[in-house]
Amino acid sequence: HVKERGRSDFRFYQRQMNIGLLSRMKIDHAMRQALEHQEFRLHYQPLVDLETQQVYGAEALLRWHDPELGEVSPAKFIPIAEETGLIIALGQWVMHTAIAQAAAWNKDGRQLRISVNVSALQFQQANFVDSLANALDDAHLDPGFIELELTESILIRDIEETLKKLNAIAKLGVKMAVDDFGTGYSSLSYLKRFPINKLKIDRSFVMNLTKDESDVAIVTAIISLAHALKLKVIAEGVETEEQKQLLSSLHCNEIQGYLISRPLHPQDFETQFLTNV
Ligand code: C2E
Ligand code: MG
Ligand code: MG
Ligand code: MG
Repeated sequence: HVKERGRSDFRFYQRQMNIGLLSRMKIDHAMRQALEHQEFRLHYQPLVDLETQQVYGAEALLRWHDPELGEVSPAKFIPIAEETGLIIALGQWVMHTAIAQAAAWNKDGRQLRISVNVSALQFQQANFVDSLANALDDAHLDPGFIELELTESILIRDIEETLKKLNAIAKLGVKMAVDDFGTGYSSLSYLKRFPINKLKIDRSFVMNLTKDESDVAIVTAIISLAHALKLKVIAEGVETEEQKQLLSSLHCNEIQGYLISRPLHPQDFETQFLTNV
């Protein structure tokens, strides 16, 4: 009996693996088609300054609706695009599209900073800084209106090489934030060496902030660390007024989350947040 069950467990496991592999291949194929046919979209989620209560910027977030697969979450397709290398072309598209949008929105004296997520493989490309500089040039955009969101995993990879790239990016005038701060390998020493401007507190610490004292302790520590290093700090995933008030009392500089708005189609972002600016 034991032997039989072992075998069927194995078959079950194998079937699961095949389904996983199949759907990844399917998603990879569909993503290549979508990129070619310009079916990816960027949505924009407002970023709010707690001191002025103003929307000062927006994070660009990838959206993909496949006719067969439906709406696919970036949490699902980005890891696959990273494995297959498609993230390089996709990331280029994101960079160009977000910069073009920033150029369109920063007209008539309006000032809006657009945050762009960068994946590890994209950042590792030898021409990453050059292609960023070219995209800014092409759009005639003041680089200060772009902020790159980099995860801790990007930053700890090859410290000397990373430092060179970050310095070159800072020299362009582009801002940089550490995304999902606190969830990666926390080597705090890089924070003082890298020319970054901001820490983004991960949503997982914000979610239960008003109920969990440990989260309050962590968030308090991140904010005080950021300020001691003269960095700004933003909290993501703010969903309630109570969370906002608590973050405000802890002197968090900025917030982002469903309380203000979900990520929006650029036209909706314009009508809701840019018409009176
Ligand atoms: P992220 O960069 O940490 O982006 C924030 C995520 O939190 C977004 O999920 C956003 O929609 C979600 N979010 C914001 N406020 C709230 C809230 O109040 N409640 C909840 N439950 N969620 C909130 P999204 O758009 O699904 O993106 C997931 C992740 O995919 C991003 O996390 C980022 O790591 C990655 N991603 C998205 N767009 C890009 C891109 O253009 N390039 C790269 N490399 N990665 C991207
Ligand atoms: Mg981000
Ligand atoms: Mg984040
Ligand atoms: Mg996050």
